[in-house]
Amino acid sequence: METLRLDLHIHTTYSIDGRSKPEDYVRAAKAKGFDGLAITDHDAVGGIKRAEEEGDRLGVLVIPGIEVSTVQGHIIVLGTRELFPSRTPAIEVVEMAKSAGGTMVVAHPYRSYTGVGEEVTFSLDPRIIEIYNGHTGERANRMAGDLARKLSCSMTGGSDAHHSRELGNAYTQVDSEPDVENILDALLRGRSRAVLEEVAPPVFE
Ligand SMILES: [Zn+2]
Ligand SMILES: [Zn+2]
Repeated sequence: METLRLDLHIHTTYSIDGRSKPEDYVRAAKAKGFDGLAITDHDAVGGIKRAEEEGDRLGVLVIPGIEVSTVQGHIIVLGTRELFPSRTPAIEVVEMAKSAGGTMVVAHPYRSYTGVGEEVTFSLDPRIIEIYNGHTGERANRMAGDLARKLSCSMTGGSDAHHSRELGNAYTQVDSEPDVENILDALLRGRSRAVLEEVAPPVFE
């Protein structure tokens, strides 16, 4: 068993507001000594394959995923290549994600406008909450950590990078074998720790 360093929240040019190509993030991960990253574009999955190809070349793990814009706010689904409908109630997206075998992470629950908020988080009965988001203020991150502890959820961190230089601003340490299935299992079992290095200016997407 190793401890892997993984940035679990990344936006590429396949997101409406992402500015770096999928392969740029994989190269940045390699350069910064990360074991892997999750591609979580806004309502898009087109960048996954490109990232995986570069990942295979460089020996960087790529976890497929998506950040879905639900009616109430953003939900990340890891371990999926499926496109879930946006502007759909969060509970329905979560049910669809479960049926598809995806692993749900409540992203930045307390961020204004795009966080699902406390009440919805409770209603989704989550197993994993992102407690450090690299584009979310200190207070909202702290509240996310408090909520995760209250609900006995596993905790993750992700940079929410919209440019490859932001990769690793926040990340997750996971005690796992280096493959996607084992990593997602380790996350669900709480064998993870969130790390915050730096917060970039807010984004509103
Ligand atoms: Zn988001
Ligand atoms: Zn995001």
